[in-house]
Amino acid sequence: MECLFCKIINREIPADIVYEDDHVLAFNDISPTAPTHQLIIPKKHIATLNDIEEGELALIGRLQFTAAQLARQQGFADDGYRVVMNCNEKGGQTVYHIHMHLLGGRAFTWPAG
Ligand code: 5GP
Repeated sequence: MECLFCKIINREIPADIVYEDDHVLAFNDISPTAPTHQLIIPKKHIATLNDIEEGELALIGRLQFTAAQLARQQGFADDGYRVVMNCNEKGGQTVYHIHMHLLGGRAFTWPAG
């Protein structure tokens, strides 16, 4: 299996895991761009946002629900935070297993670069 995030799910490479259930895994990003920078991924391998099928809509909602739960638990839900999902090369995607970035602990600017 070539996918980096599938290897993290399967414990073939280490990660600092902050949440896990039957469908979702969340772990700290290896190169954080905010005081909190976590990645929330489905355990099912889906390469890009373009590959989501209708039967997977609940799974995608679960990523967002997990992000909000993590934000609450870590105390920055009310102050505010950012979630980002990058798609393909021009969207800035570098790992081809969909993931939601959860960024918190500082103020963010808009528009994104
Ligand atoms: P993308 O650019 O695809 O939206 O985000 C990929 C993210 O994965 C990047 O923020 C990058 O720092 C993170 N990343 C890449 N390799 C690893 C790794 O081996 N472990 C962890 N925890 N994060 C990784």
